[in-house]
Parts: sequence; structure tokens; C-alpha cells
Amino acid sequence: MRYNEPKARSAEILRVALGHMGKHDAALNPLCFTLWYEYAAGINPKLQAAVDGLLADQPSLGDDAVAKLYADHIAPPAEAAMQQISTDLQRVMNGVVQSATRAGNQAGTFGAQLSDLSAALQSNDISRLTPHLSEALAGTAEMKSSAEALRHQVVASQSEIARLRNDLDRALGEALVDPLTGVLNRKGFEMRLDALLAEPIAEGESHCLVMLDIDHFKKVNDTHGHVMGDRVIKGLGEILRLSVQNPLHGAARYGGEEFAIVLPKCSLIDGAKIAETVRIRTKAMKVRNRATQDVLLTVTISGGVAAMQPGDDAAALIARADAALYASKHGGRDRVTMG
Ligand code: GH3
Ligand code: MG
Ligand code: MG
Repeated sequence: MRYNEPKARSAEILRVALGHMGKHDAALNPLCFTLWYEYAAGINPKLQAAVDGLLADQPSLGDDAVAKLYADHIAPPAEAAMQQISTDLQRVMNGVVQSATRAGNQAGTFGAQLSDLSAALQSNDISRLTPHLSEALAGTAEMKSSAEALRHQVVASQSEIARLRNDLDRALGEALVDPLTGVLNRKGFEMRLDALLAEPIAEGESHCLVMLDIDHFKKVNDTHGHVMGDRVIKGLGEILRLSVQNPLHGAARYGGEEFAIVLPKCSLIDGAKIAETVRIRTKAMKVRNRATQDVLLTVTISGGVAAMQPGDDAAALIARADAALYASKHGGRDRVTMG
């Protein structure tokens, strides 16, 4: 889901969003609410930049601005991109079909010219031969040029189709990435976990799941504000990207201040080592005042690791990793527990 904020946090965001909505001219409809909710929650950096850019030039946002911001930055990216890609693909295919039809028609005409020429040859009448020869000669030239045009069209289409494929991959990829942290979002996590559950466990192998949660994060927000809280979440995203580099492994933002690492073909011990690396790097992370470089705060995380058991579904594996995380919290936090 796009919105993973728990009720208390969403209530704070709602208050801030309502404040923004009241200050602008746009109607107070769901589009407007979604825009200001995402803006206040800090979960949509591109939207934030676009809104701030507009507000630098104009004091208030009207209905048109809201509709455009919604379409550009909130409407599901994959949906909008897919539509564009499908339109582009249709245009490319139409181009090829037209050239192929033209070349086909030309081939038909050329065939008729050749059979006229053949008939003239058989008639042994030189006077009939000359016009058919010139006609066939012109036909050959046209045939060559239409075949050449088709070849060009096909080559151009090939590279355009490759570009569209790239766009498609990117659109699909973006739909699975959390914009604040750059790691997988909840949907991306679920897809990786489904793939892991579907993969049979070979003799002597195991699959693992790590769950991580920032300790006393509510206090970070309460003391330093949500913007700083978001910087911490972003920092943890960077640490995860740095610490989870095996392309088979998937680091994800599970929701709010909770993260997960999906580890196919990984032992419980190795899973715990990865979680431990993330824990140590997080503890060493210093959030600084951007102007003075003074250290404002540090945080710790707790982790739980579980190995997949035969017969596990997603809920069972998550529950086991969560139970291990809970044990870390109760054991004093800033630690990783193996379930
Ligand atoms: P614990 O050590 O037991 O995990 O304590 P905690 O305070 O971290 O846990 P709790 O679940 O009570 O609070 C989590 C807080 O995280 C509450 C919520 O406002 C905040 N939060 C969730 N998502 C976000 C987010 O995206 N940005 C910011 N700034 N805060 C968030
Ligand atoms: Mg939590
Ligand atoms: Mg927490």
C-alpha cells in the first residue's frame, strides 16, 4: 500500500494537510486532500519539489494546479507510463505496417509488370517488348526503394521498441520502490517474499527474513520533528542499500519506520550477520545540523531474523521474524535476535 502510516501519525499528517488545504483556493476534494496529505507526510519528494516550485511563483494553488500536480505526481506512475508506452508502441507498429503494406503493394505491381514482360517475350514481338522492359525497369527501381524504406523502418522500429522496453522496465521498477529511501516498497517486498516462498529449499540450504524497527522513533519525532524523523528513515535506507548488495537479496521499507530484508538462499547465521551489519552502521549514523555540522541525533534499531520452515506461508514467516524482533525490543533494544 502507498500509505503505511499508523493511525497516530496519519492523524498528525491530517492536521497539517487540512492546514494547507485551508490556505489555498482549490476545492477541498479528495484530489486536493491526497496532494496535501502526501506533501505533509513527506512521502512524495517529486510532488514536494513541484509544489514548492509553484509556490515560489504564486501564493496559492487553484483547481487546475492541483489537478495537474495530482496527474503528474500522484496518479499511479505505472498506469500513466504504461498508457504512454502502449500509445508509442502502437505508433511504431503502425509505421511498420504502413511500410510493409507499401512494399507489398509495390511487390504486387512489380509481379504484374514481370508477367506482362514475360508474355511480351513469348510473343516474339519486339515492339511490344520495349514498353514492358522500361516498365519492369522502373518497377525494379521502385521495388528496391520500397524494400529499402521497409528495411529502414524496421531498423528504426527495433531501436524504438528497445527504448520502450527500457521505459517499461523503469516504470515497473519505479512502482516497486519507496521514493523516500530508494529501497523496495511494501509491494516490492511482498513480491520478493512470494518469490522466496515459491522457491524450493534445496538440501542444506535455507531462506531467511529479517525484520528491523527503529528504536524509540516516536521520541525522535516528538523531540526533533517529522522532517528530522524522515531524514533518519532516509539514512537507514542508504545503510540498507549499502549493506544489502547481493542482487538476489531484497531490502524493503515494510512500513513507516520498519524495514525488512528478504534473503533467499541464506542461512539464519548469515541473515543475522547482515542484520548485525545494518544495526552497527545505523548506530554509527550521525544526523547533523546541515549548517553547523553539529550532531543532532543518533538512533539504534532492533532486528529479528527467521529462517523459512517447510509449510510456511508469508504470514507465518513474517510472524516468526516479528517475534524475534519483539524479543530484541524486550531484551533492551539495539540488538538482533534469531528466531
Ligand atoms: P519502539 O522502540 O518500541 O519501536 O518504539 P517506537 O517509538 O519506535 O515505536 P512506535 O510504534 O510507538 O512509534 C513509531 C513512530 O514512528 C510513530 C510514528 O509517528 C512514526 N513514523 C512512522 N512512519 C513515519 C514516517 O514516515 N516519518 C516519520 N517522521 N515518522 C514516522
Ligand atoms: Mg514500529
Ligand atoms: Mg520503532
